[in-house]
Amino acid sequence: MNNNVIITGVSGQDGAYLAKLLIKKKFNVYGIVRRNSNDPFVRLDVLGITKKIKFIHLDLSEFKQIDYLIKKLKPKMFFNLAAQSFVTYSFNNPEYTDKINNASVINILESIRLNSPKTKFYQASTSEMYGDIKHLNKKILNEESKFNPVSPYAISKLSAFYYTRLYRSGYGIFASNGILFNHEGPLRGEQFVTKKIIKGLINFLNTGQPVYLGNIYSKRDWGDAEDYVDMMYKILCLKKSNDFVIATGKAYSIKEFINMTCKYLNLKINWVGSGLSERAITEKKKSVIIVKKSLFRPHDVTYLLGDSSKAQKLIGWKPKNNIKKMIKKMIEFEKNNYDKQNSKMQIL
Ligand code: NAP
Repeated sequence: MNNNVIITGVSGQDGAYLAKLLIKKKFNVYGIVRRNSNDPFVRLDVLGITKKIKFIHLDLSEFKQIDYLIKKLKPKMFFNLAAQSFVTYSFNNPEYTDKINNASVINILESIRLNSPKTKFYQASTSEMYGDIKHLNKKILNEESKFNPVSPYAISKLSAFYYTRLYRSGYGIFASNGILFNHEGPLRGEQFVTKKIIKGLINFLNTGQPVYLGNIYSKRDWGDAEDYVDMMYKILCLKKSNDFVIATGKAYSIKEFINMTCKYLNLKINWVGSGLSERAITEKKKSVIIVKKSLFRPHDVTYLLGDSSKAQKLIGWKPKNNIKKMIKKMIEFEKNNYDKQNSKMQIL
């Protein structure tokens, strides 16, 4: 079999890190990017790998094009990372979210079944599929835990999760789900809360502008994106396809994440008020963080903690980085970027 791999969503956080890993492993990396993408190469440029990827310009909803591509390349591995991945936006546009996150997956699987049945398929599933877990006795989630999705994003991903299983059990396709808990890094999208906090706090230190956030009591199990893409590859290197939870086993609230970040930035804050009037302020009483009602999700997932024992047992995987190292990496990257942008502005 050839050495071709296809990555959808190669311009996203995980796609970029995964491409870097697979290039290092000497695969021919084909990356799918949208024609109307804002700046598809920005992350790949940061990693210095843009020239090493063969790009295919198409939207995930263009089935004929994807079908043609799979027929032509017959890839060894297909990583489906493209998605409408922003949970809050999925409430505004559930139909589009389902089209990209679910219908496209059915099309890819169907094309693999008909044209390239030896291709190994990876589906980017998510801990958001567990959703509201209040009813569960065991709050640490594994592959056996019940799903209870509470957003259009999670519902679309859950459907794709089951289609991936169906093509495995029904047609014998090597199709695996990685149920990944939140993972972050310097290349995280601007709209995600960790990036928003780190970027916002650095901006506060420079301009005094506060950061507006929704529910700061949501807890997440946050891992490092580079660790997690390594796991995606390992999942497809197994002899048999399977589903795996990938998580660190530790959960922190957004408020705790803010406190850790402030500590690294040497920014002293105090929390005052409660509920919608809660704020973080400096010693001079300047607002740093302001809670804003409009930024709450219509239905929030308040607690997600994962148990990746299965992956540890069958693949021998353990996360290399912890949340503190990850925050440090993100801060260093952001500070560097901030300085570069400002020096550019001065030159202009
Ligand atoms: P991301 O940074 O938001 O990247 C999403 C990628 O999908 C981008 O490259 C985007 O392209 C592409 N895309 C979106 N709509 C598309 C379309 N219609 N056609 C083709 N490409 C399209 O997400 P990520 O953090 O890397 O996550 C990767 C995958 O893992 C996603 O499926 C996400 O849902 C899932 N996941 C992520 C996490 C996490 O914590 N990061 C956790 C669990 C699961 P543009 O550059 O054009 O926007």
